[in-house]
Amino acid sequence: MNKNIAYIIISVCLLLAAFLMYRFTSGSGSAGLAGIDADSKIWVMCKNASCKAAKEMGERDFYAAVEGNTEPGRRLAPGLPCDQCGKPSSVYKAKKCPESDCLAVFFYGSTQNDFPDRCPQCKVSQTEKSRKERQSGSAQE
Ligand SMILES: [Zn+2]
Ligand SMILES: [Zn+2]
Repeated sequence: MNKNIAYIIISVCLLLAAFLMYRFTSGSGSAGLAGIDADSKIWVMCKNASCKAAKEMGERDFYAAVEGNTEPGRRLAPGLPCDQCGKPSSVYKAKKCPESDCLAVFFYGSTQNDFPDRCPQCKVSQTEKSRKERQSGSAQE
C-alpha cells in the first residue's frame, strides 16, 4: 500500500515537472519573439556539407519557424528543414561576413579556440577587428 502511494507521488511529480518545463519553454519562446525587431534579418545556412544552401530571412520568421518545428516539451530547437536538399532539420542560424570583398556565410564558432566570429574564408574576426580599432583609437588619444 505504501509503495503504491510512493509511485503515485513520483508520477505526479514527474507530470508536474514536465508541465512546468513545457510552460517554461513555450513561455520564453514567445517572449523572445516579441523582443525581436520585426525588420531584423539574419542569415541561415544548411549544415549538410554537400548542400550548404544559405539565405537571408527575417529573424522573427526564423524563430517562429523553429518554434513551430520544435516538438512540445523539447528544450533544444532543431534546425529548420532545408528547401534545397530536403533534410528535415539542417538549416541553422549563420553569420554573413561583413567584409565587402568576402561576404562568406559561415556558422558562428566554426573555428575552435579562436574568436567565434572569425570568418573561415578571409580569417577576419569582427570582434578582434573592433578590439584592435579600440586599442589603436585609445593609443592616439
Ligand atoms: Zn540543404
Ligand atoms: Zn570573410
